[in-house]
Amino acid sequence: MQYQRTHGIVLYSRKTGEVDKYLHIYSMELGKVKAMATGSRKITAKLLAATEPVTETEFMLYLNSKTSRVRVVGGVLKNMFNPLKTNITKYSYACAVVNLVDSLTAEHDKNTHKYVLLKRTLELLETAKRPDYIYLAFALRFMKLCGYALELSKCVSCEAEIPNDEISKKSDIIFFSLKERGLVCKNCYNEADFELIGVNAQAISFLRQLSKLSGEEVEKLEIPKKIEELVENLIRSYINEYVPYSLKTQMFVKTL
Ligand SMILES: [Zn+2]
Repeated sequence: MQYQRTHGIVLYSRKTGEVDKYLHIYSMELGKVKAMATGSRKITAKLLAATEPVTETEFMLYLNSKTSRVRVVGGVLKNMFNPLKTNITKYSYACAVVNLVDSLTAEHDKNTHKYVLLKRTLELLETAKRPDYIYLAFALRFMKLCGYALELSKCVSCEAEIPNDEISKKSDIIFFSLKERGLVCKNCYNEADFELIGVNAQAISFLRQLSKLSGEEVEKLEIPKKIEELVENLIRSYINEYVPYSLKTQMFVKTL
């Protein structure tokens, strides 16, 4: 049994009983933890705010090694991400972000890169003019950190490089495999393989930019609506391929 102080971002929170709260927290020091905030008198109004989803808090946790239960015994609110909570579109994207983190992470699997990416994405969303682009760039990076990186520079079958200029010169159609997670060159394309998705060169170029550029640069991109939709659908299918429980928040964002 031990106490642990850690920075954490609340991914999910649900009231249980009169005064208790059940939380999923992505923490810097412990990775994801599922924890209970209990005890009416000890939970101050401040702690209630500190345990809302999309909030960064410095938690004091109590870990029971016998039952492996985690209890929240205190918390100092660090960042409420207020601009996200007052804008329905931004908040929806922020929820899609925390939902993806929750769906793809196992408990007690510490990963500082994931924490930093999560926090940075929420900060970027606060001032974002293109929250949709920020979300897509986040999703590509987070999937990569989870071991599901996309191969966007060479063919997943023969490993031949597919440079940018070649895409635009040779043909406007490139094939994409969700199962192999990447591009398939013309030589390896097999008509009988129904899994392969045909995408155009502009979409691949947008995907490459989303996965490489900084958040500030991603926001400056000007992409035709049709290409945006194509890439959004591709990334949505890619996520659904690897997240068994289809993300409700994702669908919600799309209907906005
Ligand atoms: Zn090939």
